[in-house]
Amino acid sequence: MDFDVVIAGGSVAGLICAREIARNKNRVLVIEEDYEIGTPEHCGGLVSTRGLEELGVIPFRKTLEHLIESAEIFAPNGNSFSINSKKQKVVEISRRELDKQIAHQAQKNGATIKVKTSFQELTDKGIKTNEGEIKCKIFVDARGVSSIIHKDRTGILPSAQYEIYADWIKKGKVKVFFDKKKYPGFFAWIIPSEEGKGKVGVAGKGINAAETIEKFLGERKNYSIIRKIFAPIWIKGPIKKFVDGKMVIVGDAAGQAKPTTAGGIFSSGMGGLFAGQAISKFLKSNNTSDLDEYQKKWTAKFGKEFETQSFARKILERLDNDTINKLFESITPEIVKEISEKDDFDFHTRSIVKLLGMKTSAKTAGVLISGELKKLLS
Ligand SMILES: Cc1cc2nc3c(=O)[nH]c(=O)nc-3n(C[C@H](O)[C@H](O)[C@H](O)COP(=O)(O)OP(=O)(O)OC[C@H]3O[C@@H](n4cnc5c(N)ncnc54)[C@H](O)[C@@H]3O)c2cc1C
Repeated sequence: MDFDVVIAGGSVAGLICAREIARNKNRVLVIEEDYEIGTPEHCGGLVSTRGLEELGVIPFRKTLEHLIESAEIFAPNGNSFSINSKKQKVVEISRRELDKQIAHQAQKNGATIKVKTSFQELTDKGIKTNEGEIKCKIFVDARGVSSIIHKDRTGILPSAQYEIYADWIKKGKVKVFFDKKKYPGFFAWIIPSEEGKGKVGVAGKGINAAETIEKFLGERKNYSIIRKIFAPIWIKGPIKKFVDGKMVIVGDAAGQAKPTTAGGIFSSGMGGLFAGQAISKFLKSNNTSDLDEYQKKWTAKFGKEFETQSFARKILERLDNDTINKLFESITPEIVKEISEKDDFDFHTRSIVKLLGMKTSAKTAGVLISGELKKLLS
């Protein structure tokens, strides 16, 4: 059977894209190389409920039991401050369930999903897979970081995340640990799913992710591992062109995850949504400028924020442990209160600027980053 659109990658971006295309009565096929949608789960699962709603996903009622109450951020010397995140309505979700829920939406709209089928290459009339050639008018690359990894290795960080049982994981309390020596250019994290259970992860430039996470856990002791995942994350922001002829690139494959935290459920999912709408329009009009609307819409929503995030990342990458410790010392309760009240999980550079822009911190980090900081603050 021929299709209007074939999408490689049955995860959040590809499935939302398929849902939108099928909603407009087009023939769309999603091919997923794994044996089951949503498995293996390679995600911390932190997302805002507002983001989920914008993606067209109504959170299950039980999802709301997984509300994140606070995020405690640790400096290398162990000092910390805690942001009350109740107002942001961030939840920890099961990615397995989320992906399956979106797959169901896409199928109800008429999309076909085939697992154990892997994209191999583009052909004149469509694509080649392990099961033979499939003809299509548009090919969507939604293969995640695996698609981008060969194009530019400098934007990739190795990461490891273990799902574990441990008494020291507290319900609703996220923890983030900065240490330039242990996690260069990134951090370690604890994301609770419930009391005594959650996801613990590390990422960093050039680290041995397996060794680093074992060390992190070794320092905390008394845990049992449920599942281990090792996956690269992309922190370099969007690629230049989301549309190349009849090929459309969405989600992490297009670099649509946040440059600060590599979180991409919302921004990559929105890539799938905008692409699906643009492709549907193109299939009606056959006018390629309709396809270009996808990149325009995504950039209008996330472009500026991602640029600032990339810039903030560059500054943070240059801070050594001493400077980070000093920055933490100058964080006042007023700043923490303001961030708690006004932070936006999906567009969080405002908070980063707040932290980096405090008078005392500006002095601390001054000589090192003064020019860049001024640019960021402006
Ligand atoms: C350790 C870790 C923790 C994370 N935590 C969070 C978090 O807490 N919050 C958040 O918002 N984001 C988080 N992210 C990022 C988030 O997982 C991604 O941004 C999001 O999954 C991107 O969705 P996607 O559909 O673009 O790609 P992916 O989810 O990567 O999916 C790509 C799909 O393509 C399939 N595929 C690959 N190659 C082929 C092929 N040749 N043929 C067919 N199919 C193929 C894969 O099997 C996969 O199903 C995390 C990422 C990692 C690695």
